[in-house]
Amino acid sequence: MIEYFNDDTVLFLDGNFVKASEAKMNLFGQTLHYGYGVFEGIRSYETVNGVKIFKPRAHYERLQRSCQLMGIPFHYTVDELIQLTYQVIEKNNLSNSYIRPLVFCGPNMELTSPTDVSLMITAWECEQHPNLKPKRICISAYQRPNPKAVTVEAKVCGLYVNSILATTEAKRRGFDDGLLLDLSGYVAEGPGANFFYEKEGVIYTPPATSILPGITRKTVLEICRELELPVEEKYFRPEELFEADSAFFCSTMQEIVAIESFERQPVAKAWKDSMGALIQETYRNIVLDKSYSYVIV
Ligand code: PMP
Repeated sequence: MIEYFNDDTVLFLDGNFVKASEAKMNLFGQTLHYGYGVFEGIRSYETVNGVKIFKPRAHYERLQRSCQLMGIPFHYTVDELIQLTYQVIEKNNLSNSYIRPLVFCGPNMELTSPTDVSLMITAWECEQHPNLKPKRICISAYQRPNPKAVTVEAKVCGLYVNSILATTEAKRRGFDDGLLLDLSGYVAEGPGANFFYEKEGVIYTPPATSILPGITRKTVLEICRELELPVEEKYFRPEELFEADSAFFCSTMQEIVAIESFERQPVAKAWKDSMGALIQETYRNIVLDKSYSYVIV
């Protein structure tokens, strides 16, 4: 288990930097009881130009939008949030870190919008790049939530019950992770990552309707354009994946992670020969502020 904080950890909470071990929250809050809160997952890297947060603006714009979509009043500007996050990193002497901003709501057992809203920003150390083994994936028995039941575009705490159920089911069945379908039976995404697969020189990913539109997904699409790799957003059924040449998940925390098999059926190509491997290497260069040309040449 990762140690998320120790006696020296300092976090930002509602205008103050406080020790994580001394920070307090109300046990009667709406977020704790109903999952009605929003959060982000952001990375900082030790880059060739010093410690840098990757795409902080995109993450904090999504946090603001998540609040807006949920009707949670939130008044910090993106610039303030970025500055506070750099302070959290500095105060904890972090370089390669995972950053977790959480907007949570105070006591209110009514099912109404809150007046008492808090912000916490914390961070913990992590590997520069995650060293993940290629994943063995199952098709999850759980669907992604109906976008008309809850706004899936927002990164809402309560939505992660669905992710926990899918991950637990996958592990119980002896897989590393699950792939969730949408309401119509099309492939949507992983429990905490977006999904891409390669077939005959083209990369495919589901459109942003029943998924969290990931910031890594957007970066992957940008990389494909930059490297002139053909990429398409389309709906597809899980059966198509049994014919895939290669596949990967992508997220801020996992970056680009290879998929080895679907329901025990291996993908056709070795990861090192896949388009995903090239995208993975390019992504690693971008987050470390190294130039693209290293990969293109
Ligand atoms: N989908 C879900 C359900 C997620 O939790 C995440 C991780 N935030 C992603 C996709 C990937 O999003 P991002 O690339 O912005 O981390």
